Amino acid sequence: MLHQSHSYSETTSNTKSGIDLPSDAGAQESTPLETTAATLRPQFWTQFKLAELNHSEWEALCDGCGSCCLIKYIDNDDDEELVEYTDVTCQLMDCATGYCQHYDSRQEYVPDCIQLTIENLPNMMWLPAHCAYKRLYKGQSLPSWHLLLTQDAVVTQQQMRAANVGVAGRCVTEIGMSDEEMETRVVNWVTP
Ligand code: SF4
Repeated sequence: MLHQSHSYSETTSNTKSGIDLPSDAGAQESTPLETTAATLRPQFWTQFKLAELNHSEWEALCDGCGSCCLIKYIDNDDDEELVEYTDVTCQLMDCATGYCQHYDSRQEYVPDCIQLTIENLPNMMWLPAHCAYKRLYKGQSLPSWHLLLTQDAVVTQQQMRAANVGVAGRCVTEIGMSDEEMETRVVNWVTP
């Protein structure tokens, strides 16, 4: 069993999307669409392969759910059904907001933070089933609540909560936690 503690999308909007911000903070943030709209080609997620996306388009796929920052147990990287998520997060996670506290410099703090790139995506099928990168890689559509579809951060936020997606407010930090306690914190609200 592999205890995988630190994984993160290179492009996750976990600190900047505004999708999963608390309601009182959302207005202070710009959404990915607002900040990168000029470089997002229309319907790019259906018109181009993942390898053909530009940087802004790749970033815009992340919904900021924070699930990839949860500590998980993986029996076999090739079999997504053998992944168990815990509600324990990387030490850098702000568990109240669900955002990385040091996104830009995170690897200075957590050197083994795994970056999600087009090259390593095939080996990251432990990502949650709703993750846009995994879904597009598998030939599936974006989740219906994705910001690229709703074009409305508030609607997306509400629908993500309704779909039981996102770590904000229901995760705990790995700091000070023993391996034994960690093993008791497997949750079923993240579906690989
Ligand atoms: S699981 Fe996917 S959508 Fe969620 S934060 Fe990680 S990369 Fe982004």
